[in-house]
Amino acid sequence: MKDFDFHTPGSLREALVLLAKYNPSTSTRSAVIAGGTDVVIELRDFKRHPEHVININKLNELRYCKFENGKVRIGPLTTFADLERDAGIREKVKSLHYCASNVGSPQIRNLGTIGGNVINASPAGDSISTLMSLDASVVLESGRGRREMKLQDFYAHCQKTQLAPDELLTEIYFDAPTNDIATAAYKLGKRKSLAIVVVGFSVLIERDSSDRIKRSQIVLGASSKIPVRINALEDYVLGKPLTEDTFKPCGGMLSEIIKNMIPEKDAELFEKYHKVESIKSITERTFRRILDCFERRREGK
Ligand SMILES: Cc1cc2nc3c(=O)[nH]c(=O)nc-3n(C[C@H](O)[C@H](O)[C@H](O)COP(=O)(O)OP(=O)(O)OC[C@H]3O[C@@H](n4cnc5c(N)ncnc54)[C@H](O)[C@@H]3O)c2cc1C
Repeated sequence: MKDFDFHTPGSLREALVLLAKYNPSTSTRSAVIAGGTDVVIELRDFKRHPEHVININKLNELRYCKFENGKVRIGPLTTFADLERDAGIREKVKSLHYCASNVGSPQIRNLGTIGGNVINASPAGDSISTLMSLDASVVLESGRGRREMKLQDFYAHCQKTQLAPDELLTEIYFDAPTNDIATAAYKLGKRKSLAIVVVGFSVLIERDSSDRIKRSQIVLGASSKIPVRINALEDYVLGKPLTEDTFKPCGGMLSEIIKNMIPEKDAELFEKYHKVESIKSITERTFRRILDCFERRREGK
């Protein structure tokens, strides 16, 4: 690891001043560190050579999860363990609760932040597909001001975001699911517990008053450079009744879609990790969770 100056700002304002000083335009003189679970490995492996490391981990003003005026607002320093423990997330945003509970190991969940996961922009980043299925937005701040954008627009290319060198991610937010919305997620990993996701599937379904599907947001992670909305599946289920029969063909449809997304040279990988049966199974399980959720609500549980 190369020598660097280590800064621990006491406020967001101070952090932004440091970023403006050391990263004014396209310079990579500084690196931001939150939980450090990704960035420390990059520093150790000489993938980054900053002269200044700005540790934002002590900025408690960026660590919160609140339900406010119909929105869920999450500070970027909120750890996966925080989200896993949050009663509102557990009750009302099941997909995010599943995602938070299934990242890495307990140690990684205690340190790893949702902001670090979003900024790291790995195709296999667990929170990205789930946040996309919730149609989340991000708030970015710098000494120059504040801007917001949909998460989907935030990712321009693989492992690249729209974050400017002097900006910090300061909030992630999305509409709080109402009683007519159910969410679910499922990930298929290589190994239990420390799994890096091989296929991630996140779904939001909204019902109308006659129990038909009024809105569907379906996202596939880890099979392409960034997680993608699967419009073909979304359109297929739209307007159909909320029953098992509606979702039955979705597994087969999804494995065909994934097969077509993967470059020919990776066909062997598809056979190894994306077995048709596994994809059918995660699709079935995810939609089963959606149906169970609505059934419990009908029974008033
Ligand atoms: C053993 C192991 C297992 C793992 N398992 C999983 C897994 O199952 N699923 C998964 O998705 N990930 C996994 N990861 C990856 C990692 O833990 C997550 O991506 C984590 O959420 C990163 O958060 P962090 O706070 O540690 O980020 P850091 O390492 O501190 O930062 C990551 C990147 O984000 C930038 N950054 C952080 N916060 C901000 C901010 N607010 N504004 C601007 N830039 C910021 C940093 O500069 C850096 O570029 C694993 C990692 C390890 C080592």
